Amino acid sequence: MKGKKTGKAKSTPCPKCGSIDVIPILYGYPGPGMMEAAEQGKIALGGCCVGDRDPRKQCKTCGEEFDRPPARGSKIHP
Ligand SMILES: [Zn+2]
Repeated sequence: MKGKKTGKAKSTPCPKCGSIDVIPILYGYPGPGMMEAAEQGKIALGGCCVGDRDPRKQCKTCGEEFDRPPARGSKIHP
């Protein structure tokens, strides 16, 4: 059956609007498959510059980016 999402990965609802229309944000240099998926709205491209606390999910409904990884301690790493 097509057309319905498979509930394989657990979907995290948007913390802002509660929508489950959420796509993963992928970082790094996009390959051909990634470009295609991004154009189809399946993923979002975060760019090549990867930060320590970049959001990994984006809500397609309101555009909120969330699911940031927790900070690695409060002290500044040398
Ligand atoms: Zn949202």
